[in-house]
Amino acid sequence: MKVGIVGAGMVGSAAGYALALLGTAAEIVFVDARPDLAVAQAEDIAHAVPFVGATRVSAGDYGALAGCGVVILAAGVPQKPGETRLSLLSRNADVFADVIARVLAAAPDALLVVASNPVDVMTGIARKASGLASGRVIGSGTVLDTARFRTLLASHLGIAPQSVHAAVLGEHGDSEVLAWSTAQVGGEPLLSAAAKLGVGLDESVRAAIDDGVRRAAYRIIAGKGATWYGIGAGLARIVEAIRDDQRAVLTVSVLTPVVAGIADVTLSLPRVIGAAGVMATLLPDLTDDETAALRQSAELLKSVAGDLW
Ligand code: ADP
Repeated sequence: MKVGIVGAGMVGSAAGYALALLGTAAEIVFVDARPDLAVAQAEDIAHAVPFVGATRVSAGDYGALAGCGVVILAAGVPQKPGETRLSLLSRNADVFADVIARVLAAAPDALLVVASNPVDVMTGIARKASGLASGRVIGSGTVLDTARFRTLLASHLGIAPQSVHAAVLGEHGDSEVLAWSTAQVGGEPLLSAAAKLGVGLDESVRAAIDDGVRRAAYRIIAGKGATWYGIGAGLARIVEAIRDDQRAVLTVSVLTPVVAGIADVTLSLPRVIGAAGVMATLLPDLTDDETAALRQSAELLKSVAGDLW
């Protein structure tokens, strides 16, 4: 599959690197407002390819996206000094609408995978601006938060993350909801599995894991300025599910008709992803507290998205 990446910054280039190393894409094309950056990233990543595979990596203008099955949107506009978050958001929204028109002019059949933050809001804008069906405009959402949740649970239990099934729902951000009540380990409910493994999972351990997931980005940003490897791999995983029509269940953000009593909000839930994009949603049976938290997250996202675009 040919994959386009608009925005060759840290997130876009990490996605390209993951796609190239994993051999997920036959061809990768970078497009950036800074063409020199796009060319440099393409060249650097192309030099990794002979060690692992045969992906063709290049940079170009929007026209070079022709034939892409997926286009990852990782373009971002940095905050100006003193600029409010809302003003940044509305500036980003205008940029995004323009980018999407150019992408679809070149690659009308592409699925859009949105990575730019705030990802849920940007995914909503991308859907509106594109006019595409909601399942074809997929935000990376909580795909990474879910990976963090599974990793921390797995490390606490002393087992592989792949054997832990647990999801983070709602906003990719502070209001996200860790679905503790539906977490499973090897098909066992989490608490029963922890007891069988002889590992404690009391309130303080759960609070530490919650904080570890919810505040991961803040800690990484404090240490290195931004996060990119985790999300880069998460984006490659979404592309793989699309490329192979896997019907894999991943927590990604799409426009959702109704969730926890809130209508038309773009947020993450476990979704079945295949060649046509998101095909179905598997809303877990949550506790009342978790449902209330998900409603709050949905309300918050709706109020931020407002009439942005
Ligand atoms: P992140 O850490 O989210 O990747 P960066 O600032 O490293 O953020 O990357 C964002 C990239 O998006 C930059 O390389 C920037 O040039 C690019 N960009 C910004 N606006 C546009 C646009 N309108 N079209 C294409 N690329 C854009």
